Amino acid sequence: MTRVTSAGQADLRERAAALFPGGVNSPVRAFRAVGGEALVIERGEGAYVWDADGRRYLDLVATWGATILGHAHPAVTDAIRRTAGEGLAFGATHPSEMALGERIRARLPSIERLRFTSSGTEAVMSALRLARAATGRDLVLKFAGAYHGHVDALLAEAGSGLATLALPGSAGVPPAVAALTVVLPFNDIAAVEHAFAAHHDRIAAVIVEPVVANAGVLAPADGYLAALREMTASEGALLIFDEVITGFRLGPGGAQRRFGVTPDLTVLGKIIGGGMPIGAYGGRIELMSLVAPDGPVYQAGTLAGHPLAMAAGAATLDAIDPSMYVALEQRTERLAGGLVEAGRAAGRQVAVGRAGPLLTLFFRRGAPVDATQAFEADRAAYARFHRRMLEAGVLLPPSQFEAWFPGFAHGDAEIEAVIAAVVDALQE
Ligand code: PMP
Repeated sequence: MTRVTSAGQADLRERAAALFPGGVNSPVRAFRAVGGEALVIERGEGAYVWDADGRRYLDLVATWGATILGHAHPAVTDAIRRTAGEGLAFGATHPSEMALGERIRARLPSIERLRFTSSGTEAVMSALRLARAATGRDLVLKFAGAYHGHVDALLAEAGSGLATLALPGSAGVPPAVAALTVVLPFNDIAAVEHAFAAHHDRIAAVIVEPVVANAGVLAPADGYLAALREMTASEGALLIFDEVITGFRLGPGGAQRRFGVTPDLTVLGKIIGGGMPIGAYGGRIELMSLVAPDGPVYQAGTLAGHPLAMAAGAATLDAIDPSMYVALEQRTERLAGGLVEAGRAAGRQVAVGRAGPLLTLFFRRGAPVDATQAFEADRAAYARFHRRMLEAGVLLPPSQFEAWFPGFAHGDAEIEAVIAAVVDALQE
């Protein structure tokens, strides 16, 4: 295998610090929320990654959810190699786009037409533009703690990296732009009712992570998503499911099939690119017909529908048999049970937020239902825990407010190893 470098982490970190803000190309990689030195990861295989000093970690970050098959899965690697050998991208339609598009549509019937982008952020931005065009309205309603990419107007009370930086939003977003976003607590349907009453005929869309995975995992209350569906329909607003994380993770049909709630528009990313840069948005034909060149909503991308991302995504979806989700869910249940038991044995106040194979160990009493509760968790305790786990060779998300991503490469042995490490870490 060709190595990018054989230099050690210390040297690489120094060079990174001299190049990139915070030494990284995405903030959470800097480990600011847990302290200590950020990892420079050189390679991965299955459930494991190796840092540039050659140290191995059991990886529960899993490319922030993008590599559900594990790292360097042979089917994905082969597909990329085969495709790359025939040229990388042409700025024209390529057969691989239909291969992935048809696979997605077959699994998510609410997507009759779709458009590929190069990131989840772009897909969200484009879906909102479409929703505003379709409804002729300007406001977008989102939930505190949810993260929908770094779209200007959606950085208000967003989760993920913003949560740990304790920023209410981002500098550089004009108040006039932020004012187009209404932020409400998750799992509070009365708040949504009030917002519709207060902003009559102005709300273009409600955008929701059906399971919030960016404030740590917040599961939707029974009937909550169905209530959002009903209310948006009766108010003439669109319901947008941001399934960048939940798509092809909560099951073969994502959150929408798992919870039996059909959104107007769906945003995808991560898993559909098998680890390559990707995003997508899609929905009913009449909505997607508004997108250029069929309609007046402009959206484009030089490298959109990139053949390597398409090939990696199609190979990923092909490698997944629906029965694999059943096993993954059982293993996650075992992991969650092990975490709760470890907390009890150590006399620690911890709780597991979980929906299917997505979970977070919160350092607080009881699993949170919204971001306010999630943000009450003891970040300092999580930071100490994270460092102990890292020393034990387990890579967890470097923030209390991110999901753990067990995937198909995590077998029983890996799950038991994580539980054993947690037991030790919580005892100390
Ligand atoms: N939506 C959700 C739910 C996400 O978790 C993310 C990224 N973690 C995004 C959108 C943005 O995707 P990307 O980082 O590919 O722009």
